[in-house]
Amino acid sequence: MVLYIRINIKEWRNLLKERFNHSVGTRYQSSGTTGDNFSIVYSDKVHNGASQRAYKLLQSTPISPKDKVAIFFGFGIFPPADFYSSALLDMQCQIVKLGSGRNLETCKKCKWFEDTDIKAIISMPSYLLKFIDEIKKSDQKDLIINNIKCIIVGGEVLKNEVRNIIESFFNTKVYDHYGMLESPMIAGECKYGNIHFADEFYPEVLINGEITKKGTGKLLLSGLNIWEDNPMLRYETGDLVELSDVKCRCKNRNKTVKILGRSNNYIRFGSCLIDLTAIDIILNRENIWKYYFVMKEDADRKVILSLYIDCDLSINIIRKLLSDNITMAYEVVVDKKIILPHNANGKILHFLDKRVNITKSETVEV
Ligand SMILES: [Zn+2]
Repeated sequence: MVLYIRINIKEWRNLLKERFNHSVGTRYQSSGTTGDNFSIVYSDKVHNGASQRAYKLLQSTPISPKDKVAIFFGFGIFPPADFYSSALLDMQCQIVKLGSGRNLETCKKCKWFEDTDIKAIISMPSYLLKFIDEIKKSDQKDLIINNIKCIIVGGEVLKNEVRNIIESFFNTKVYDHYGMLESPMIAGECKYGNIHFADEFYPEVLINGEITKKGTGKLLLSGLNIWEDNPMLRYETGDLVELSDVKCRCKNRNKTVKILGRSNNYIRFGSCLIDLTAIDIILNRENIWKYYFVMKEDADRKVILSLYIDCDLSINIIRKLLSDNITMAYEVVVDKKIILPHNANGKILHFLDKRVNITKSETVEV
């Protein structure tokens, strides 16, 4: 039997904190929306490496010198905003730093697009949906849409349904990028729709405890020069991916990745542990259009889980699909008119925990 050495998220973070404790650099913090609380200082070298990868990934898009590019990422703690800015400066572009919904209201962003000849947008996909709703109200709608030649997204899993909405609204291609705080700027999409790894990474997948070079499983990443001289060896990202080595027409020979979901997304209810990513993957299918879960407590403090869903499937089939993943009792409400809940930034929420007095220990990170 072969024993493989790999490192999980917590071990990798501890190692980074221990071996990579620079006093000079930029400190970035993981997003608060996932309940995560990890921060790390990127040295100049790490920052430059990530910016160079951003530059290379942007070379696969139609962005060209002198283009004005709007960035909708928050410039506070979200590192890719900085890497894209450095890369765009190297590409001789003009950066329009509009930030997230918290930095500048979406309606005011729309005004910028009316007055400025912006050619590309870099954003989270869910925030673009909010922006699209705002553009629809503008009497300069056609002008804004016609100016945009490409859209780059990252920061969350891009669902086909969301990609289709964005691409058909702007009548242009979306380029999906992939990265994480512990491993910045990993991969980006080419014009043929394949997401290729940057040269610095060596990806593998973990399938039922075995490590293989391709297939569907948890992504393991290795890279020797991402963190200066601290090698990243088989870091278990927790993300569920499909890895392949298809020969792409873009001539990039690096492996191709399809991001299926982020796997460290579990919530515990009593004895039941629900993997929200697994559920997301199961429900992200053709005849299911919208869904969200609500967790509540009744007067006796008994926990009730409800699934609101817009689909063409019977309740029995939905229950069968989810039987391995939700072992607690829950209700299913099929509703053709559901409106997906959003948070303050416009991010679609597929899970609402409305219980009172929720304690931190009830939400676990695995
Ligand atoms: Zn390609």
